[in-house]
Amino acid sequence: MERTLSILKPDITRRNLTGAVNEKIEKSGLRIIAQRRLRLSLEEAQKFYAVHKERSFFNDLCAFMTTGPIVAQVLEGENAVANYRNVMGATNPANADEGTIRREFAESIEANSVHGSDSQENAAIEIAFFFSELDIVG
Ligand code: ATP
Ligand code: MG
Repeated sequence: MERTLSILKPDITRRNLTGAVNEKIEKSGLRIIAQRRLRLSLEEAQKFYAVHKERSFFNDLCAFMTTGPIVAQVLEGENAVANYRNVMGATNPANADEGTIRREFAESIEANSVHGSDSQENAAIEIAFFFSELDIVG
């Protein structure tokens, strides 16, 4: 069993698609074992995405993540990190496979609907950013 951090981005909450994305997550076999809706401040978004601070899109990405509520989640399942990235699809929705969340819902490479941790190490760091152990009920 493995855990990963998922974020439903502001383009999802704006279009009232939280349940539609959660249905795809649950149909994939992953379990939502913690979930919290919140609005990030710019400082919090910059802290969360600090690994990208040298990238050209950093400022735009952080601004986008503060344009509305997000839904942070802990997902659990076998190979949850890699499995969820398959369920999400490619970063650019134009390259995302049929049936993936980004292919179905993403608006652009920036407003691409979901975030998923890219390694077990980062999953642990990102889960701790949003949740305490008491919030996570497996
Ligand atoms: P995430 O980390 O959100 O799960 P990812 O791992 O597929 O996505 P990253 O390379 O980590 O992609 O980029 C983080 C986020 O930055 C992307 O999800 C997207 O919102 C945004 N992003 C990435 N590349 C670009 C780009 N070329 N232009 C604008 N935004 C981008
Ligand atoms: Mg990433």
